[in-house]
Amino acid sequence: MTSTNDIRRSFLDYFAGEGHERVASSPLVPHNDPTLMFVNAGMVPFKNVFTGLEHRAYSTATSSQKCVRAGGKHNDLDNVGYTARHHTFFEMLGNFSFGDYFKERAITLAWALLTKDWGLDPNRLTVTVYHTDDEAFDLWKKIAGLPDHRIIRIPTSDNFWAMGDSGPCGPCSEIFYDHGDHIPGGPPGSPDEDGDRFVEIWNLVFMQYDQIAGGPRLDLPKPSIDTGMGLERVAAVMQGVHDNYDTDTFRALIAESGNLTKTLTTGATQASHRVIADHLRASSFLIGDGVLPASEGRGYVLRRIMRRAMRHAQLLGAAEPLMYRLVPSLVAEMGSAYPELVRAQPLIEATLLQEETRFRQTLNNGLKLLDEATATLGEGDTLPGETAFKLYDTYGFPYDLTEDALRGRNIGVDKTGFDEAMGRQKAAARAAWKGSGDAASADIWFDIVDTLGGTEFTGYSSDASDGQI
Ligand code: ATP
Ligand code: MG
Ligand code: MG
Ligand code: MG
Repeated sequence: MTSTNDIRRSFLDYFAGEGHERVASSPLVPHNDPTLMFVNAGMVPFKNVFTGLEHRAYSTATSSQKCVRAGGKHNDLDNVGYTARHHTFFEMLGNFSFGDYFKERAITLAWALLTKDWGLDPNRLTVTVYHTDDEAFDLWKKIAGLPDHRIIRIPTSDNFWAMGDSGPCGPCSEIFYDHGDHIPGGPPGSPDEDGDRFVEIWNLVFMQYDQIAGGPRLDLPKPSIDTGMGLERVAAVMQGVHDNYDTDTFRALIAESGNLTKTLTTGATQASHRVIADHLRASSFLIGDGVLPASEGRGYVLRRIMRRAMRHAQLLGAAEPLMYRLVPSLVAEMGSAYPELVRAQPLIEATLLQEETRFRQTLNNGLKLLDEATATLGEGDTLPGETAFKLYDTYGFPYDLTEDALRGRNIGVDKTGFDEAMGRQKAAARAAWKGSGDAASADIWFDIVDTLGGTEFTGYSSDASDGQI
């Protein structure tokens, strides 16, 4: 079996062999973009190179970039544990051309890696192109010999990438692997494309235009390439499993979670182990990159992730804090690729232990309240927003934890009511503060809190600067 560590190495070696500079992953907190919460794509650290603001000594590069998608435009948090292919933390493998090669070489390199070096069955691969991109369509035909029906033209923004309202943009081409007709789901562009049968493994972005703010779209003099491949998804393909959670890295983490809690990792407890394994990775890498749990901003996203995992540990019957005890397994799996994880191990363990110890004190009381509040509710019902807010305010339950806790019973949560209750509390706090006399400075303070989000941070979720590829 090809391990995930081997696949990462093989990808980087392949592109290095094709003249690309090996670039180490940037930290998860973007240093070049204050509007973005976390690095969420391999191209993010290269944004200024693509726009020409920054010059590097090389014109092509390859990397394996740590990514988190748990907030902002790309929020995959709710999918975790329930789809075969989404994580909050994942690694994006990429090759980049800064005004060097363009479509033809990008497609040639991608196809050769997948079908020659890695030996994937070409008959299982389907690609998409932007509906007007005849050039990419013809190249796929010429280079890969794909029949017309396996080069699907997509008219939506899924196949048109833009850095923001202005700047570099262009069509993209996604490569899908067909896991077989025993799995529900249709090909890309079909009504049931959201199933897990055809899994998107690689996205090739062809940056060929410069969008002028509020104006025309000009041809870039030197078009560029940005690609992103999900390491965990391609590992599933190469290890002959359908589900990312059945790959070597996740198996090791899930096995340890099963050992420590003495529970089965299949059946009714499977989703909990998956959530724990995923959130362990996200939490550990975030802490390793300097994020600490907090009541706002990046730290609040981390806290939400940690607490959700801790609730699942409690569901499994863990009598003592669990998460910190899983860190050694994570370090064993990923520490050689990411030495920062090894360096930060003591801090990661201490932070997880402290948060879990604190949270466990209120968790049971909160869950008791939740049980009482939902005793008369059944499938399809909705928990009042007021109750969700009380859980948040008194017991430290982030909104999505409440949602996740009721998901299994098919009970929804009144988000509008929750937001209103939150708004009322903010207004009351503002009024109380004004009463103290110094209204002018208080307004400035509350404006900052409102803009940056005192509790649930939304200020960085700007669509325009999102680094999706
Ligand atoms: P999807 O449509 O499956 O949500 P995407 O189009 O949002 O994926 P891209 O932004 O194109 O993904 O990112 C490039 C690659 O990164 C994808 O082709 C996929 O292999 C991987 N990827 C994206 N999101 C995730 C995630 N949440 N977990 C694991 N891998 C992911
Ligand atoms: Mg997505
Ligand atoms: Mg997609
Ligand atoms: Mg994509």
